Amino acid sequence: MLASVRPTPLAGENDQWLDALEENLASVDWSPALAPLAVKLAKNVPLSLEDGMTLYQHPDLHEVGAMAHQVRMARFGNRAFFNSNVHINQTNICVLACRFCAFRRGPKAKDAYAMSIDEYMDDLAIYAHAIDEVHSVGGLHPEWGVEHYEELFTRVAKTYPSISIKALTAVEIKHLGQRSSMTTREVLKRLKAAGLTSLPGGGAEILDDDVRAIICNGKESSSEYLQIHREAHEVGLPSNCTMLFGTIEALEQRLQHMISLRDLNASTKGFQCFVPYPFLPDDTRLPQAQLATGTEILRTIAVSRLMINTIPHIKAYRMNIGDHLAELALQFGADDIDGTVQKESIMHLAGSSAPLDHDRAKLARLIHDAGCEPIQRNTTYSEFEPYIPPKVKPRRVLPMATQ
Ligand code: SF4
Repeated sequence: MLASVRPTPLAGENDQWLDALEENLASVDWSPALAPLAVKLAKNVPLSLEDGMTLYQHPDLHEVGAMAHQVRMARFGNRAFFNSNVHINQTNICVLACRFCAFRRGPKAKDAYAMSIDEYMDDLAIYAHAIDEVHSVGGLHPEWGVEHYEELFTRVAKTYPSISIKALTAVEIKHLGQRSSMTTREVLKRLKAAGLTSLPGGGAEILDDDVRAIICNGKESSSEYLQIHREAHEVGLPSNCTMLFGTIEALEQRLQHMISLRDLNASTKGFQCFVPYPFLPDDTRLPQAQLATGTEILRTIAVSRLMINTIPHIKAYRMNIGDHLAELALQFGADDIDGTVQKESIMHLAGSSAPLDHDRAKLARLIHDAGCEPIQRNTTYSEFEPYIPPKVKPRRVLPMATQ
């Protein structure tokens, strides 16, 4: 007998999404391999690791994508969420040297940088009129403690009260605790009081300590990542969570990663969005990486939607997967797309060529091209507004369905 779970609708979901889920899944004649999964999903029963392997090994990618799309449509209809943000990476100086990272520099490198608070504010001033969120992550600076970020966030919050500050990964929080001799919970409380709105969730990589020992030795352990996010949720800071795939991990480790995040959120409910993104090809940083193909990226996004029933949003992170794949991902289970962005270093140094000049109208067009309705949201997924782009000259396209 399957136990069903009826969570409170959250974060822009349809009120009756669980009823819609049952209807949507019953409306399709699933193949024998996927039919038992559809029965579980219809009752919002979490899929097992073995179910996840079935999804990864099912020969029909389209059927896996269609199943993820049915779940996404039940939760959100064809709405696709975005916000207007800028990424400011405050320093590339880092005391660690993760194997996959193309961004970090040692303090003596010619192109090492650490923005002063004034420089950060000057940079933010360029974009402030057009954004509602600043997203800041960076290296583990050997000299900056919690006071540096308190001063920075206080300045940002006072100067731009309508801009949310989404900043610092779990390992940055851990590093600040070590630098300032305080617990990570204290760091989170102090930074929240200074104006921090939420954590972006980067740095999860793969939550498996054997994998981490090879790709990011010295970073926080899997349990520390989960614990810091648990503490963030407990002190009232929502967060996102990520997965870097296509390095050296096995499929089981990806699935266990999804399950660990899903299980944590079943109790804390503080994760808003799951962001799966692939390692970008580079022969020098991690030559043994098993790079993800385009179809594998789409499949992983679909599997994420199906495995993770406790986190409402699945993001197509276009900074990493590019605009074309991000558009397709909106038909494979993703409902959220990041973002106008405008400035970003980490993925671009790793090889991304995703355009950085998207204003809201361009992003809305990408969402329309995927057959979805663009909805502008705030950082914490608590305010939503349909975005009607300004009228533009119609594009020359052949008449065909978009879905
Ligand atoms: S991933 Fe983060 S912690 Fe690791 S080297 Fe790069 S900047 Fe430092």
